[in-house]
Amino acid sequence: MLVVMKKDSTEQEMEGVMQKLTHSGLAGHISRGVERTVIGVVGQTFPELRDTLELLPGVEEVIPISKPYKLSGREFKPDDTTIKVGDVLIGGNKLAIIAGPCAVETERQVLETARAVKAAGANILRGGAFKPSTSPYQFRGLGKQGLEILALAREETGLPFITEVLTPQDVELVAKYADILQIGTRNMQNFILLDEAGKVNKPVMLKRGMSATIQEWLLSAEYILAQGNRQLLLCERGIRTFETHTRNTMDISAIPIIKKLSHLPIIGDPSHGTGKWDLVTPMALAAIAAGADGLMIEVHPNPDEALKDGAQSLTFENFEQLMQRLAPVAASVGREMPVEPEEVHVE
Ligand code: PEP
Ligand code: MN
Repeated sequence: MLVVMKKDSTEQEMEGVMQKLTHSGLAGHISRGVERTVIGVVGQTFPELRDTLELLPGVEEVIPISKPYKLSGREFKPDDTTIKVGDVLIGGNKLAIIAGPCAVETERQVLETARAVKAAGANILRGGAFKPSTSPYQFRGLGKQGLEILALAREETGLPFITEVLTPQDVELVAKYADILQIGTRNMQNFILLDEAGKVNKPVMLKRGMSATIQEWLLSAEYILAQGNRQLLLCERGIRTFETHTRNTMDISAIPIIKKLSHLPIIGDPSHGTGKWDLVTPMALAAIAAGADGLMIEVHPNPDEALKDGAQSLTFENFEQLMQRLAPVAASVGREMPVEPEEVHVE
C-alpha cells in the first residue's frame, strides 16, 4: 500500500502517518521523489487501514501496490536509485565497470590486476575472499587475508572494491573492509543473510539466483530494503537452461525488465553469464545496449593458472579491448564510459 502525501504536506503530517503505521504493527518507508513524497506500507495490512490513512491530515490518497514486491518496485519509487561508492555514482549516466579476479589469490595478482583494470578505465575492483564452491575440494578463498589484500589495492589505486559475503556471521567483518557487499547466486534466497545485509550501512549487490525468476529475485531484494538498506543494486549473471554450450544462459531480457519494474540499478555479469572468455565481450556490449548500468568482468593476469573461473577470465589485453569496443556502444545508448577515452592511460 502506498500513502501519497499532498504536495504541501508538512513533516509533522508525515510523522503522523508514520506513527499510525507503527501503532498498527506496520512499517512505513519514505520515498521523497521529484514529483511527490510517498510512504510505502509493508506488513500485514487490513481492509479498514486504507480509509483510516486516507483521513489523516496531509494525505492525498492511498493506493494499493499491485505487485508482491513493494519497496523495490517503480510504484513505490518512480525515480532511478543511484548509489555513491567513493567517487563513483552507480545508476547515473556514467557506467560502473567492476573488474578483477574471481578469487583473491596473492597480493601481487590483485595489485597487478587492479592497476591494469584501472588503466583500462574500470572504476571498481572486484575479487572474492570468501568463495562459494560447488565442490569442497576447490579453492575456497583466503578469507580475512583476502580482504586485507583488496584493501591494499584500494589504497594504492583509489578503486573501491566489491567482495562476496557468504554467511550472516561474516557480514560485519566484510562490511568493515568492503565498499560493496556481494551476495552471490547461491545465496540469493538465504533470507537470514539478506536480513543481515539489510542492516549494514554499505551498498549491497544482489546477484540473481541461477534458477530464480525475476519476481523471486525482486522479493529477495525486498528483504534487504525492508531492513532499511536502500543502497542496493542487482546483477544479472545468467540462469540455468537446457543449453550446455555455455555455463549459464545470460538473460539479457532481464535487464530491460528490471529497468521497467524496479528503480534499482542493474549490472550485467557476462563472465558468469557465459563461462567462456571469448563470449564475454559480445555479451558485455549487449548488456550495456540493453540498458545495464554497468558490468562486472573477471580479469586475471594469467587466466590459464587462475585458481577459479580461469575459462571465463579475460587477460589484461582482452579487457582493454573490451573497454575500447564498449565506448561506441555506450555512446549509442546515451551512456558515458567511467573514464573519458583521453583520460585512459595504459602503461
Ligand atoms: C563471483 O562473482 O565470482 C561469483 C561466485 O558469482 P555467482 O554468485 O554469480 O556465481
Ligand atoms: Mn567467479
